[in-house]
Amino acid sequence: MSWLDVKAFQGWKKKRSVRVEMSTDCIFCKIVAGRIPASKVYEDEDVIAFNDIHPIAPVHFMIVPKAHIESLASGEEKHQALLGKILLLAPKLAKQQGLTGFRTMINTGREGGQEVFHLHVHVFGGGASLPKT
Ligand code: AMP
Ligand code: ZN
Repeated sequence: MSWLDVKAFQGWKKKRSVRVEMSTDCIFCKIVAGRIPASKVYEDEDVIAFNDIHPIAPVHFMIVPKAHIESLASGEEKHQALLGKILLLAPKLAKQQGLTGFRTMINTGREGGQEVFHLHVHVFGGGASLPKT
């Protein structure tokens, strides 16, 4: 293998390692792929967080796994670390966004009020105190 071949192979491996399952007609997959814009507040190799286009509080963003997981109900053992990562990220990002307290919400399934079928954790707060439910 020539030096160029080695470089190409390493580049291919690198690209391969960040590939995630995606669904072509999913709006959040399109945001993950950079095909539609979003007001991003955080991104790493596993997750992206961006502001909700219809905020229900002065600060309202969502933490979204890059892999297309339909909902919390589709979570599997293999997603354990990813789901834990998202929950640990929520208070860090909330603090960065200036929140001293916040609410998280995961709508699951149509009956649970889910509209976008790509798992996401809403994080919102700020302003007047939130209602109890
Ligand atoms: P859910 O009801 O939990 O599925 O929430 C989906 C959320 O995604 C809603 O609060 C929408 O306002 C939000 N949303 C939909 N499309 C976009 C978009 N392109 N950018 C940011 N937020 C979005
Ligand atoms: Zn998706």
